[in-house]
Amino acid sequence: MTALLEINNLNVLLHTGRQPVHAVNGLSLVIHPGETFALLGESGSGKSITALSVMRLLPDAGEIVHGSIRLNGDELLTLPESTMRHIRGNRIGMIFQEPMLSLNPVMTTGAQIEEVLLQHSGLRGTALQTRILELLRQVGIPDPAQRMAEYPFQFSGGMKQRVMIAMALAGKPELLIADEPTTALDVTIQAQVLDLMRELQQQENMAVLLITHDLGVVAEMAHRVAVMYAGQIIETADRESFFQSAAHPYSHKLFAALPARNKRNHGLTVISGNVPVLSKKFTGCRFADRCDRAWEKCHQITPPWVEIAPQHHVRCHLYPDHPADALPRTNRPSQDHPAINPSASGLNKTAPLLRVEQLKIHFPIYKGLLKRVAGYIKAVDGVSLQIDSGKHWRWWENPVAEKLRQARESCSSYGRHRAAFVCKMKNYAV
Ligand code: SF4
Repeated sequence: MTALLEINNLNVLLHTGRQPVHAVNGLSLVIHPGETFALLGESGSGKSITALSVMRLLPDAGEIVHGSIRLNGDELLTLPESTMRHIRGNRIGMIFQEPMLSLNPVMTTGAQIEEVLLQHSGLRGTALQTRILELLRQVGIPDPAQRMAEYPFQFSGGMKQRVMIAMALAGKPELLIADEPTTALDVTIQAQVLDLMRELQQQENMAVLLITHDLGVVAEMAHRVAVMYAGQIIETADRESFFQSAAHPYSHKLFAALPARNKRNHGLTVISGNVPVLSKKFTGCRFADRCDRAWEKCHQITPPWVEIAPQHHVRCHLYPDHPADALPRTNRPSQDHPAINPSASGLNKTAPLLRVEQLKIHFPIYKGLLKRVAGYIKAVDGVSLQIDSGKHWRWWENPVAEKLRQARESCSSYGRHRAAFVCKMKNYAV
């Protein structure tokens, strides 16, 4: 299949101190049309800098010193800025982590989508207004005619992210870059937004470069995964291979750091140490100081890029010679994950610390010259919950929540996002 996005040997420096920081070092990847490619890693690994390099939106201190970024064969790094302005929002759309910071608080949502369409579509007048309504409808904003006249502060977090997605889709991009698109949202809204992105991607056959630190999001969304560490890709595989047999010791530690039921009475596993300073010169493996399997060679020689299975590559000296004794199977959460099976966590053993009964918060919708109340947005509608002493929580006397709990218990798939999707499929309100 022809590649849509092809990045070759990308090197990016950040001039923020006395020594330049090698934020991205020799990164190569390929994304095909209609594919979701997840770039996974902890903060500071270079994921967002990679995304900004594709858009050519690096901060002033950033410099692409080497490499090539091709979109459908067009080399983006040599295009004039005027052509890049056309490509951004048109051939490449982008959504960010925090929608409140990305939307203009003093413009209505309709006006913000209109701005994008004026720039990229050539639509005017009625056709323009119709397209705004269509986009809002497409991303699931109820009553779009009313809501396009409202300001971002009148939208919930999930609704704001939907508006951001509408803006990103306005130019019908071939590639959508989603940088931690659901990190700022609560888990059920995350599931809805991810579901929406997947639906729209299939409708438009759009490729998605998904940047995330969340293995649950990767499990739900990705066709292929690349793990980034200290400015480099250290493992890449299709999703199934990655979740069945992640190979790199760092990938194993990411799985081991996930919370699980059998760890409830222990502290969470953390990856000790920090990402190394990227302004220094490396002589061996960048993960050596944090790796339980490191030996002399790891500190002296840079590990090569090794193919350990079809489409599965890793940068580690353990391969290909020691695959059998590489590391034990990853600590993947299944039924042990507390989000999937909260019932076994010993709840309800202590007296309630906080109890909420039938909480309702409704916002009036004003219409007309006299601003009469025409209806209500029921932001919270009859929520009851209880939090016991200590760190546990549970839903309390709520039949919908009970269905959610049952669905999670019966869910054998991976992660909390999966649980929320299952609830949706079973028509449980979440
Ligand atoms: Fe660990 Fe050595 Fe592999 Fe690096 S090369 S991940 S230090 S075993």
